[in-house]
Amino acid sequence: MIPIEHNIAVTLARINRAADSYDRKRSTISLLAVSKKQTVEAIQAAVAAGLIDFGENYLQEAEQKIQQLHALNLSWHYIGGIQSNKTQTIARLFSWVHSVDRIKLARRLSDQRPADMPPLNICLQVNIDNEEAKSGFDVDHIAAAVTEINSLPRLQLRGLMAIPAQSDNVAKQRDSFSRMRTLYDSVKDAIDSKNDKASFDTLSMGMSADLEPAIAEGATIVRVGTDIFGPRDRSV
Ligand SMILES: *Cc1c(COP(=O)(O)O)cnc(C)c1O
Repeated sequence: MIPIEHNIAVTLARINRAADSYDRKRSTISLLAVSKKQTVEAIQAAVAAGLIDFGENYLQEAEQKIQQLHALNLSWHYIGGIQSNKTQTIARLFSWVHSVDRIKLARRLSDQRPADMPPLNICLQVNIDNEEAKSGFDVDHIAAAVTEINSLPRLQLRGLMAIPAQSDNVAKQRDSFSRMRTLYDSVKDAIDSKNDKASFDTLSMGMSADLEPAIAEGATIVRVGTDIFGPRDRSV
């Protein structure tokens, strides 16, 4: 077995085991392969192993890969920081954006989503541990942002995303994910009670090091890079 194929099998087994342990329905959890700083060949190997969802953080790099792999009909997720002068390219290239952290960016993405494409799926990024250096909405600002963003015509608000504070302590990791789950449930209740566009179904959280506690607390998309592709090349 080639390494990427093997790594994917191991990652899927981890997801299966976590779903079992925490009484989650396996079909409600999907794997997003984070392919930033990985080659087109590495992505092709992951596609051969059955994956179709890929996450990218750097727009220039992503644009090239998306173009080169166009024929494969993959689903591309933008998970990186967003500069407002880049929203047009993002709105044109991606199926999903997980990292919307300002209302203004959501408006631009909606305005710029091409008319002949389906609405852009978005998640609002939450700065769940109130970290100075991390982007994302404050927990207290999410409800107002949801109300405003949910009415934008060319977006489909799918859920929330977080990158909790780095920690080796599983209890701490789980606590951050648990607060995300509480926030997610309250937003979902509010949306469902208004019977709006009822497509709020995504909790994007958990990476290579912490996908199990994320699944324990309700993650529906885990974003895994290193454990699928190996270490990233820091020089590019
Ligand atoms: C890089 C990245 C990941 C993947 O992290 P790994 O630790 O390599 O699995 C997930 N989510 C986001 C937002 C990232 O930037």
